[in-house]
Amino acid sequence: MQQELPAVAKNIHTFCKKCNADRYHVVIAHKTATSAKVKCEVCGAHKTYTVPKPPKPARERGPVSSVGLIPEKKPRASRKPLTEEARRSHHLAEYEVLLQQNVDTNIQTYSVNGKFKNNQKLQHPKFGLGLIRSVHQDKIEVLFPDEVRNLVHNRG
Ligand SMILES: [Zn+2]
Repeated sequence: MQQELPAVAKNIHTFCKKCNADRYHVVIAHKTATSAKVKCEVCGAHKTYTVPKPPKPARERGPVSSVGLIPEKKPRASRKPLTEEARRSHHLAEYEVLLQQNVDTNIQTYSVNGKFKNNQKLQHPKFGLGLIRSVHQDKIEVLFPDEVRNLVHNRG
């Protein structure tokens, strides 16, 4: 909260340059809403006293708890979980790397009756080009550009 300007003729304790010390000053006149012309009671020097500015709003200085502790800044990652968009872009990057690493030029066409092997490339009519990450008895886990999907296979 903004400190109020002391009334005319009141005494305020403030620094006097001439005395080089804190002195009582008498308020002679108000200059603005936050500053006044004051006179040192010891040496008689005039100066302008300005009301100290209130602390900056909390949003600029960061939140301060009632005990005055400034909370530590937390790393971005722990403050907010990955957005869906970020998760997908991470996934896509991984997909592209794995696809590049895979030198298999033979692309299988997906069918529920097909039997697939790990690390095979697979073309799915709906999901696009995929890379088989693991193979089970009746299902395969396939990395597609958007996400990993479990598909059935070996049903023939
Ligand atoms: Zn003085």
